Amino acid sequence: MEQKQHLNPLEVAQQQLETAANHLKLDPRIHAILREPKRFFEVSIPVRMDDGSVRVFKGYRSQHCDAIGPTKGGIRFHPDVTPDEVKALSIWMTFKCGVIGLPYGGGKGGVVCNPQELSQDELERLSRGYIRAIAQFVGADKDIPAPDVNTNPQIMAWMVDEYNEIKGHSEPGMITGKPIIIGGSLGRGAATGRGVSIATREAAKKVGLDLKGAKVAVQGYGNVGSHAAKFLHEMGCKIVAVSDVKGGIYAENGLDLAAVDAQLKQTGSVVGTPGTVAVTNKELLELPCDILVPAALENQITAENAANLKCKIVVEGANGPTTPEADKILADRGVLVVPDIFANAGGVTVSYFEWVQNLSNFYWTEEEVNERLERMMVKAFNEIWDMYQKHPVDMRTASYMVSINRIAEAIRAKGWVP
Ligand code: GLU
Repeated sequence: MEQKQHLNPLEVAQQQLETAANHLKLDPRIHAILREPKRFFEVSIPVRMDDGSVRVFKGYRSQHCDAIGPTKGGIRFHPDVTPDEVKALSIWMTFKCGVIGLPYGGGKGGVVCNPQELSQDELERLSRGYIRAIAQFVGADKDIPAPDVNTNPQIMAWMVDEYNEIKGHSEPGMITGKPIIIGGSLGRGAATGRGVSIATREAAKKVGLDLKGAKVAVQGYGNVGSHAAKFLHEMGCKIVAVSDVKGGIYAENGLDLAAVDAQLKQTGSVVGTPGTVAVTNKELLELPCDILVPAALENQITAENAANLKCKIVVEGANGPTTPEADKILADRGVLVVPDIFANAGGVTVSYFEWVQNLSNFYWTEEEVNERLERMMVKAFNEIWDMYQKHPVDMRTASYMVSINRIAEAIRAKGWVP
């Protein structure tokens, strides 16, 4: 039977919110506030290209909800960025910050571009141009960007430099994910992957899955996937598959991650690592494994393939990798989905630590950062698990419920809803 598929990320986010709102019997006025971003900016960024021509890029910034604090969320550089995607990602950031209990609401930015086709100089001019275009609307107490897909500490460095030049003062807390030397936090680079591994460990404990020898497939080998694979390997898991934009690799008895990293360094892709079998990104999702970590883009696990997944647990390193239809199929099949808004919250949690360090000008050791991350993630996991036990919902809805309760309390306290 033909089903209506939710593939527009904004519709997905709104549908997830609605499911949780219904279970909570949320005040419809608060629900209405949370359905849409409070502000959304569209900007045009003229960039001088190396050949002397000028190209105009589209950029967006969405500020979803500032009930609890300033908005927070990364900037994505990708050819497929759309306004609805950026809005959805900002909604997910609100609930991500809420579920951990960070003093932020959600924001997100995006630039429609293919960074692979840009030179370093062009990438710098585009990054500076984007922050110039939105400089009036961001800041340490307003809206705090960070890295996301295809953006990194170098890009954050250009952006904070441009911002400081415009404002005439140094404000390191206006952006996170910076290089350590200019106010970045120790542990930020690995934080999202570390958080994914903590989420996996806690979920595995609950379902009685021993991580020693557990088979893990990771879709995406960027900042999230590569670190998640490394930490899960350290916990005793066998990483049987990883992938990047060029495709995936599989080794039934576990990949040699050092060889994968060497291949990536040499060729720019994990594909072709000796002793591995080539698989597509689609095939990777259906490989035999205990734990599947989608750590790439949205809409990977859908009504089409959810029934074919072999894993016991899905841990969402990416934002929005599973559609609502797929969630239902997986729940019916008894596959536990550890949702993005919790599973990948390690990144924004250490971004919060970076911001705190910037505001206080006092810097922590890596151990302090990692210990605090561990504590906050485990606490949030237990709150979600409690909610999940008490209500007939999946873990995603339970996570939204924990988060919505906090945000609704702030909205009421501020009198937005009398
Ligand atoms: N882009 C990351 C995310 O989706 C990190 C955001 C941040 O650190 O503010 O959670």
